[in-house]
Amino acid sequence: MSFYNEYLKYKDFDFDSFFKNTTDEDILNTINKDKLDKFDFLRLLSPTAEKHLEQMAAKSNKLSLQHFGKSIILYTPMYLANHCSNKCAYCSFNVENDIDRKQLTLEEVEIEAKNISKTGLKHILILTGESKSKTPISYIKDCVKVLKKYFDSICIEIYPLEEDEYKELISAGVDSLTIYQEVYNEDIYDKVHIAGPKKNYRFRLDAPERGCKSKMRSIGIGCLLGLYDFRIEAFMTGLHGYYLQSKYLDVSISFSLPRIRPHVGSFMDLHDVNDKNLVQIMLALKLFMPYAGINISTRESESFRENLIPLGVTKLSAGVCTEVGGHSQSNKSSSQFEISDTRSVSEVAISLERKGYQPIFKDWVHI
Ligand code: SF4
Repeated sequence: MSFYNEYLKYKDFDFDSFFKNTTDEDILNTINKDKLDKFDFLRLLSPTAEKHLEQMAAKSNKLSLQHFGKSIILYTPMYLANHCSNKCAYCSFNVENDIDRKQLTLEEVEIEAKNISKTGLKHILILTGESKSKTPISYIKDCVKVLKKYFDSICIEIYPLEEDEYKELISAGVDSLTIYQEVYNEDIYDKVHIAGPKKNYRFRLDAPERGCKSKMRSIGIGCLLGLYDFRIEAFMTGLHGYYLQSKYLDVSISFSLPRIRPHVGSFMDLHDVNDKNLVQIMLALKLFMPYAGINISTRESESFRENLIPLGVTKLSAGVCTEVGGHSQSNKSSSQFEISDTRSVSEVAISLERKGYQPIFKDWVHI
């Protein structure tokens, strides 16, 4: 079994008719339910549900307090390298883009780690472009060994791996995995992933499940909003999370909702996802899977992130730089995309406290 079988069930579903037949009464009944099924979730993603976002927000706030309290985990990404063997139409690191390429030495990793750890953060997300030859598992393992001295939780966002390879990284000190499908629609996936190993849709789609099997503690998934119809993509993302959670009860599942940001390159075929749309997706996901985490990155503006917090956010990045060596070096590389919220870790922490939330720097320790 694979999530692919689930994807196929809904691939040719008549979403337009379903949405057309969704009434206001359906939405209100759905909001009042204790447990939502897949079609309830889809109803909350319909255009009709847009009129009921306030009621959805109130329920989302209640569920979020019930499952997570008023605490938000803070973390920051560290780019180890930006070499990539893929040609993705929407990303600056695309192998054909003429950008400054860089890879941190282990000494540089240590300097970055020291600088980040001065902010008090204990959770780190390490990223590379997707080049298995330039940044092999052995290199990532070496970096993790250095980072373990400074951080309690190490999450990876790298090229998809085999189950044994994930296990290898877990033994080195990694505990979490983030991997985005980017776009669930298989035809669009093929179109935007022009060349390179990432063209293999199934290998990527099954990566979160291989992560679950390898005993990752926590797995983050998501789609890149803007590549296709957000209602269908959000539905598939939620189904994917539900599939994983139902099969792997011991894994903590979270969703990220990245919207496409300005980048080097000229991909134009975008599907607009406005702020209201993003709020709807987040609320629908929260009502469908109240116990799943929700991560809102610095792609979003400071004020928008602030407003989303009571609606169910559980994780925020802070002090973010999307350049290799961005936390310590003056001669950094090209960035993957432009960020929007440029606040430091302490600024984000203070603003959370002002809202009555507790910024969490550490909620995990390796024994
Ligand atoms: S999205 Fe990932 S795989 Fe695609 S070009 Fe960018 S870094 Fe490479």
